[in-house]
Amino acid sequence: MSLIVQKFGGSSVADAERIRNVARLAMAEQERGNSVVVVVSAMGKTTDRLLALVDEISAHPDSREIDMLLSTGEQQTIALLAMAIHSANGKAISFTGPQVGITTDNSHRKAKIVSINTEKMVRELEAGKVVIVAGFQGMTGDNEITTLGRGGSDTTAVALAAALKADRCDIYTDVKGVYTADPRIVKEARMLKSITYDEMLELASLGSKVLHSRSVEFGKNYNVPIQVRSSFEDVPGTMVIKETEEMEDIVVSGVAYNRGEAKVSIMGVPDKPGIAADVFGRVGEANIVVDMIIQNVGADGRNDISFTVSKDDLQDALELAEKIAKDLGAEKVRSDAEIAKVSVVGVGMKSHAGVAATMFRALAKNNINIEMISTSEIKVSCVIRESDVDRAVQAIHDEFELREGL
Ligand code: ASP
Ligand code: MG
Repeated sequence: MSLIVQKFGGSSVADAERIRNVARLAMAEQERGNSVVVVVSAMGKTTDRLLALVDEISAHPDSREIDMLLSTGEQQTIALLAMAIHSANGKAISFTGPQVGITTDNSHRKAKIVSINTEKMVRELEAGKVVIVAGFQGMTGDNEITTLGRGGSDTTAVALAAALKADRCDIYTDVKGVYTADPRIVKEARMLKSITYDEMLELASLGSKVLHSRSVEFGKNYNVPIQVRSSFEDVPGTMVIKETEEMEDIVVSGVAYNRGEAKVSIMGVPDKPGIAADVFGRVGEANIVVDMIIQNVGADGRNDISFTVSKDDLQDALELAEKIAKDLGAEKVRSDAEIAKVSVVGVGMKSHAGVAATMFRALAKNNINIEMISTSEIKVSCVIRESDVDRAVQAIHDEFELREGL
């Protein structure tokens, strides 16, 4: 007998019929002789709708109260799913995150899970019930409700799988699996049978929204096999797993993009030791996460420093950059929100040369200008014009011959 954690996202529980479908999938897994824990998101666009209401009520909403509100979305789904299983003559019980002892740190809206108490869940599983848990939420040591950040139900699911030592965590979603590129952009994108945690982490952080990054980190740290699969079609999906030797033969697994970045440049910064430490020290203290950095050596002992941040942080980053520029005697600050990042990812890059050159060639052939470059052991990323993203992703996918049948 295996223990399987299943997770269903908002679109998979959007209405009564779909909730009934989830009930069927959970019960089918149980009929195969397995113990089943189900984690669900809020129905459809509920979380977005609640956040839109917040906007109407307050310009500076309190994070604690936002968590109070958002956590209600998932709580609706768990109860409805339990009732759906009962109506189908199955056994099930629903729990909120706090009820199953999902303890988090104190950072509202982006809380991190610190511990899980599995006792209650184990007891109910042993009684033959499907255990249904609300995703995306937890509670601080001080009994305050928290949420884990948008998309956080994935993390609840994988964290529960780790804590319960589950055999697998199945993430049911509205796509069949993880693709070599966004199929909305690249028609011939191919579904991957498997991908490593590290590749998936790069893809998640690069903006392919299939899995919440923290969920992949949990999977990696506790070695939980994660399967991304469709809730609408009964076909195997993509396994996210530990690296195996033959995976190194595949140089590039996929092409990702992120339109959510913006660039800030501080121009004419004095060229002397300690400047970068000062600039990025202050940016870090302001809790602004910097992705890429580039420094151009200018003339007259002055440099230009550019960095990219999430578009959400642009306003804060810009205000801070203005202050820093003034303090350092820099000439001016510029910003650009019309940029995007395209990346190729693959564990095989560790042992194959020339990947960056191939990517640059794909962009050059299509007359797409590269504004910034960064690389890691398993990734090459370029910042380009946002308006070039679709063409760039297609060109890179073609150049690496990632399409079906090759
Ligand atoms: N309902 C939350 C969201 O929309 C969490 C999730 O779906 O994973 O972000
Ligand atoms: Mg999601």
